[in-house]
Amino acid sequence: MRQSKLFTKTKKEAPTDEVSKNAELLIRGGFIHKEMAGVYSYLPLGLRVLNKIENIIREEMNAVGGTEMRTAVLQNKEIWEKSNRWDDAIVDTWFKTKLKNGGEVGLSFTNEEAYSNILKQYVSSYKDLPIYPYDFKDIFRNEVRSKSGIMRGREFYWKALYSFSRNEDEHNEFYEKMKIAYQNIFKRSGIGHLTYMTFASGGSFSKYSHEFQTVISVGEDTIYLDEDSSIAINKEVYNDETIKGLGLKKEKLVEKRAVEVGNIFSLGTKFSEPFDLKYKDEKSQDKLVIMGSYGIGLGRLMGTVVEALADDKGIIWPESIAPFQVHLLLLGEDESVKKEADKIYDTLMKKNIEVLFDDRDSISPGEKFAEADLLGMPYRLVVSSRSMKEGGIEVKKRNEEKGKIISLEDLLKIFKLEPRA
Ligand code: ATP
Ligand code: MG
Repeated sequence: MRQSKLFTKTKKEAPTDEVSKNAELLIRGGFIHKEMAGVYSYLPLGLRVLNKIENIIREEMNAVGGTEMRTAVLQNKEIWEKSNRWDDAIVDTWFKTKLKNGGEVGLSFTNEEAYSNILKQYVSSYKDLPIYPYDFKDIFRNEVRSKSGIMRGREFYWKALYSFSRNEDEHNEFYEKMKIAYQNIFKRSGIGHLTYMTFASGGSFSKYSHEFQTVISVGEDTIYLDEDSSIAINKEVYNDETIKGLGLKKEKLVEKRAVEVGNIFSLGTKFSEPFDLKYKDEKSQDKLVIMGSYGIGLGRLMGTVVEALADDKGIIWPESIAPFQVHLLLLGEDESVKKEADKIYDTLMKKNIEVLFDDRDSISPGEKFAEADLLGMPYRLVVSSRSMKEGGIEVKKRNEEKGKIISLEDLLKIFKLEPRA
């Protein structure tokens, strides 16, 4: 993409109404636009990141047998009354509205009821199970505080998968697979080295749930981490019994601030009971379906990557989720340099390498460099009369101090050696 065609512009000044680093950098870079506290629109650059995260998650969910669908945002009161989650005294984060001809509807704050109600129509025999439907969806929650940028939205985009199994064993087997799928997702998104499986409160159906907590200083949660085993305990279940039960040693646990980027939950029959979600087993006996839920906030994950990896100059995107692999900067107005830059752009495009080409006139080299650092593409290429005199193109990785001059041929080798994830 030519930057002269990108309508968003970067801002030098930090927004005055944001305290979080992710919101500051993403707004300055033109990745997102703030509508109001906790509500953000994704601009072209931001959407490219979100789409990449979505594809990583989709691949991992399909690999464990997930089937993608899309549940409606507007939800029927009667359905949520079945599980006793319509009442504002019980769920205080609902956004609700009224239909013109009477009747109340709510905007999905989660998905268990929608899935249980739909699946009720399709599950009747043991032959129908297990199944793992999931969706990507905008979720609405009237959060009291929303100061963490896209990490805590009042409207946010998530993936939720629900597992429907015949019995505990079948459920547990899938649950273990999901732990690995989640670790793959965070590794592939570039925060695997900072993300720990964390034992958290489990509700009434299992002793613990599992959160995936990324250690960052601005995290809203407190966890106790055992660095040898990479296992952590959420403060909410941190006590002698839990520590001992998990075979950990209190002296070795380190307190950390962290953000929950995803969680997985055993639901047992909490929803299959009120929705009468049953199947007939081999002996024609009625059995309740055993459920699990598995969520990830895509905006929260994107914001966490920004918080965790940025430096004082701006964002540093991992190659796997960067909006573009390469930021190509053309410096100066010299015609032969412009031609060379065009040629490099075309060559990279033909090789299917994603390039943002800063082809704009009348922007100083200093400004272009500062902007490249703010936007954070993994590779910066500079074409100038100087680079051409020295024999080619200057290439620098975003996290390196100094670049080096190489030929176009060698440049292509770089991308062959380090193909996109
Ligand atoms: P938290 O404890 O942070 O409030 P939660 O436990 O209520 O989150 P779930 O309802 O289990 O979260 O949602 C699943 C996932 O959705 C979370 O792990 C998180 O990644 C994401 N998520 C939850 N709330 C938000 C939000 N307000 N903004 C962005 N992402 C969110
Ligand atoms: Mg939580």
